[in-house]
Amino acid sequence: MSCIFCNIISGSIPAYKVYEDTDTLAFLDIHPINPGHVLVIPKVHVPEFQDLDDEIYTKTMNTVKKMAQNLTKLEPKRIGLKVEGWDVSHAHIHVVPLLDPHDITSKRAVEGTLLNPTKEELEAILLKLTT
Ligand SMILES: [Zn+2]
Repeated sequence: MSCIFCNIISGSIPAYKVYEDTDTLAFLDIHPINPGHVLVIPKVHVPEFQDLDDEIYTKTMNTVKKMAQNLTKLEPKRIGLKVEGWDVSHAHIHVVPLLDPHDITSKRAVEGTLLNPTKEELEAILLKLTT
C-alpha cells in the first residue's frame, strides 16, 4: 500500500503515536503548526472524510475529542480542528493547539514556516500527551 497513513497504521513507517484503539489512531504531525499538533485517522483507508461511514466517522470524532481534551495539558489558548486533505489522500483531522487566531489557517503552510521539531522535541511532547 503506498498510502503513508496506512503504512503508519501497519507499523511499517514509525510515528509518534499518542493514542490508538481498534478503529482509530492519533499521532504527532512531524511538521506541526504548533507543538502538539496531532493527526487523527480512521484505520480504514477512505480518501475523503465525508465518505466515512457513520460508525467510523463517530469513532474518529470521539478520538478527536479525546485528543482535544488531552492537548489542554499544553495550555493552548484554544484548540482548533482542520480537515482539508490536500496532502495525504486518507481521511484525517488535524487537532491543533492554538496560540493565535490565525494558526488554524494555512498561513504557515503558505509561508513555509511550519515547524521542524527535532526527534527530542517530538518525544518531549509525546511524553506530555501520553502520561
Ligand atoms: Zn490509507
